[in-house]
Amino acid sequence: PNSEYELLRRRIYSNTKEFWYFIHSGLLDLEKKAHESAPEIVDSVKYLLSLGVEHKRSLLHDIDQLAEVDGYATWREKEANDLSGLVQKRFHFLQNPADCKTAKKLICSLNKGCGYGCQLHHAVYCFMVAYGTKRTLILKSKGWRYHKAGWEEIFKPVSDTCVDPSGKSVSNWPGNSETQVVNLPIIDSLSPRPPFLPLAIPEDLAPRLTRLHGDPIVWWVGQILKFLLRPQPQTAAVMQETMTHMGFKRPIVGVHVRRTDKVGTEAAYHGIEEYMTAVDEYYKELELKTSVDKRRIYLATDDPKVIADAKSKYSHYEILGDPSISKTAAISTRYSDSSLFGIINDINMLAMSDYLVCTFSSQVCRVAYEIMQTYYPDASSRFRSLDDVYYYGGQNPHNTIAVLSHEPRKNGEMSVVAGDLIGVAGNHWNGFSKGRNLRTNQIALYPSFKVKDKIETAKFPTYAEVDK
Ligand code: GDP
Repeated sequence: PNSEYELLRRRIYSNTKEFWYFIHSGLLDLEKKAHESAPEIVDSVKYLLSLGVEHKRSLLHDIDQLAEVDGYATWREKEANDLSGLVQKRFHFLQNPADCKTAKKLICSLNKGCGYGCQLHHAVYCFMVAYGTKRTLILKSKGWRYHKAGWEEIFKPVSDTCVDPSGKSVSNWPGNSETQVVNLPIIDSLSPRPPFLPLAIPEDLAPRLTRLHGDPIVWWVGQILKFLLRPQPQTAAVMQETMTHMGFKRPIVGVHVRRTDKVGTEAAYHGIEEYMTAVDEYYKELELKTSVDKRRIYLATDDPKVIADAKSKYSHYEILGDPSISKTAAISTRYSDSSLFGIINDINMLAMSDYLVCTFSSQVCRVAYEIMQTYYPDASSRFRSLDDVYYYGGQNPHNTIAVLSHEPRKNGEMSVVAGDLIGVAGNHWNGFSKGRNLRTNQIALYPSFKVKDKIETAKFPTYAEVDK
């Protein structure tokens, strides 16, 4: 297929969703107002809402089917495999230099003071810089808060041949082309910032990736996680046993409910009903194409009360979830060996689900979403976030390009000229996103469907010696 076709297909899909967010939220407002001042129209509004959502579902289903009947499904599978094979081979080459004694190295310490998802993102960031500077990544993980003995007991070492951090010259970031060993700080204190940071993808892969995938940076992060998280046999066995024991099977929606310390500090509270409404919507759309024996969810949370609550309120659902996992996720035990397999299993099952419902403000869910990309040619629309759009901690501004102009009609709306660059702050999931117009500097709301993502690229090394 040509890129135009693939981009258009995905654009119609996401803008159909945006169209319904807009109409749905407008009708809910109207219903509220009607309750107060025009009760006779409440029923009409309810009618529009109930038939309107059927319209939307049918449209999304049909657009989704398009990808199954257009004859390109085999190409997508193959292209996804080829691209993954290509970068995994490069990663292997980078990480296993011919001579470790003289190899250029980048040292990354797995000691960032934060949770598991945050630490994985720290490791991924280190890997991006290693790949970008063509330095073998040395991951220092002795005393890791999630497993004191170190990363290598849980996951395969990031190198088979080169783990010695020493070298004849050592310097802090950035060093120069002669420096053999460079120490990398956490992304938050990185200076100067190289061009390899998210949301940038390697320029040489960009044409193929933008054709294949709806959110190339998520694919890129997913591929790095695929390399980093190759499990040791013991870890693989635990993940497999847990899935079997839980009765993990498809169809299944992964639901992640992040509570405890996150709520009120870094994220707002969302009731279980909000998550389950999104789950219901997923199943109603699925039921347009297949009959579903049982609506099933995998529920991961750091608050064990959530699982009991969901089980009592949604008895017609099969709810997989282990309250004892969430207990070890409590803050007191969070950063310890006992909680490690809990979070590994939770992320694994969320990532293996058909669809994800969660808050992207949580790194746990973003990691699951990133890993999910490795199981499909393009899983970029298999999620519903109740808060943020996808982002990568420490990323450069997320810019979009206006494809349609916009005349403000209400207070708070942005004036947009096609071609404007707009930095996204967030999607309000009501048809509007908030952002800054880089031409006018105005911070305001604009209709989400009027922009498209600007795909950022950087000149990473191309590893020509590997691609033979
Ligand atoms: P964030 O704080 O949600 O953005 O993600 P982090 O991964 O940085 O820190 C949260 C930590 O809380 C995780 O690493 C886990 O240790 C724990 N946690 C949060 N949600 C869950 C969950 O659903 N299951 C388990 N087992 N642990 C969780």
